[in-house]
Amino acid sequence: MSGDTSFLDQVNRSFDLAAALTDHPPHLLAKIRACDSVYRMAFPIRRDDGTVEVVHAWRAEHSHHRLPTKGGIRYATVVNEDEVVALAALMTYKCALMDVPFGGAKGGVRIDRKKYSEGELERITRRYAYELYRKNFLGPALDVPAPDFGTGAKEMAWIADTYIQLSTGDLNGLGCVTGKPVAQGGIRGRAEATGRGVYFGVREACAVAEDLKPLGLPEGLAGKRVVVQGLGNVGYHAANFLAGGGAVIVGLAESEGAIHAPDGLDLAAVVAHRRATGRITGFPGATDLAHTTLALELDCDILVPAALENQITAANAPRVKAKIVAEGANGPTTAEADAILRQRGVMVIPDIYLNAGGVTVSYFEWVKNLDHLRFGRMEKRFEEGAYRRLLQAVEGATGKRFTAAEMATATQGADEEALVGSGLEETMVQAWHEVRTTRNKHRDRADFRLAAMVNALDKIVHSYEDLGIFP
Ligand code: NAD
Repeated sequence: MSGDTSFLDQVNRSFDLAAALTDHPPHLLAKIRACDSVYRMAFPIRRDDGTVEVVHAWRAEHSHHRLPTKGGIRYATVVNEDEVVALAALMTYKCALMDVPFGGAKGGVRIDRKKYSEGELERITRRYAYELYRKNFLGPALDVPAPDFGTGAKEMAWIADTYIQLSTGDLNGLGCVTGKPVAQGGIRGRAEATGRGVYFGVREACAVAEDLKPLGLPEGLAGKRVVVQGLGNVGYHAANFLAGGGAVIVGLAESEGAIHAPDGLDLAAVVAHRRATGRITGFPGATDLAHTTLALELDCDILVPAALENQITAANAPRVKAKIVAEGANGPTTAEADAILRQRGVMVIPDIYLNAGGVTVSYFEWVKNLDHLRFGRMEKRFEEGAYRRLLQAVEGATGKRFTAAEMATATQGADEEALVGSGLEETMVQAWHEVRTTRNKHRDRADFRLAAMVNALDKIVHSYEDLGIFP
């Protein structure tokens, strides 16, 4: 990525370009752009062999304009302060854009999780949670982490348990973290939420014929050829939902290699093959690529980078063949690459919009924890009774008789999973059309990334106006 600027500089550059399209006061924009607090820590953990190792970790709270702050925790060897602050800033803009009432935050622990046993990972996670708690960087009203690269439901359960042990009597303790297992205060649909949000966003973008025409693509998702980089939480679910929506997965990339099959790959079979052999390569009927990053240059309609930042750079952007880059990961396209893609007429669906499904459903989980009530519990049977009475009235008035199967389908009340899916879809669809409206208003100067950032800035400024802090 030589020649490309740092991740934080890229986020700030995007902010500055968007700010120039607004007439908000400079002092307020400077306040929004700055990161409010960063906690850098180093703590010892005992390895299984008895030795002691020092672990370096961070938590950045980018903006306290809304509380709590919210953002994932990443376990990776490349974690550093610049990256954590950049990701926290993206969270601020993402939450504002999606009308999720949180400030942005992000955490990072610099480890290669593959090198640690489960017991060691538990000790690292609990000590990290303890450090956050000690400095008021953890709590349902303060700062609420979630999974990110290298972490999942298990780590979130350890964090919740650590917090609850330390904060005796906090009735809302489970709301200190989201992405928990369902049995421990999690919400149905959170695990797949980011990937599902990617699907809703791509589907919406592909539904607008006037936006697809300049790309030389017909409207609709059906038959679109998709390449996905990263088969983790975001990438796997995005690929799965996109395939379910009629797209054809023609390429997949993982850290160990990449595969290509112009006629389409069976995602479930690829996952089973990787589980059995430890590698994505060697999948029957597919071609192995010489290097995993070459997947980004495959012939396709939609490229979904869903692994890490800085994957599409000034070096490979001229060779990207996709007409649409759908950013599942945070910051996968450098600023230099973004300019090249834009000049080449590639549509970029930006990260702060497209991967916001995770934080949207995290918001639902946090609300559920504070309410101490599962969504749908009160109304599901009531709704079913109301629909049944309505259909019976139709039967009485028309003489038509519904079959038992028709009756069962039409009278189904909404449960938690259905409500989460509906809330996520509504949020993604609404935000995309707001982004389009802004893009169309500034068509000569703004692409979708800039338009999303403008919307985020406008919403943050309005929230400061509501607070009456700035004149
Ligand atoms: P994950 O750890 O579940 O999955 C990442 C996957 O990418 C892993 O399978 C890993 O092996 C693979 N990978 C790593 N390096 C690679 C490379 N060079 N080429 C191909 N594959 C590679 O992480 P995740 O939660 O899916 O996060 C992925 C991205 O999405 C990150 O940028 C993260 O910040 C972003 N994101 C995640 C969420 C979420 O809810 N988990 C929400 C918003 C954004």
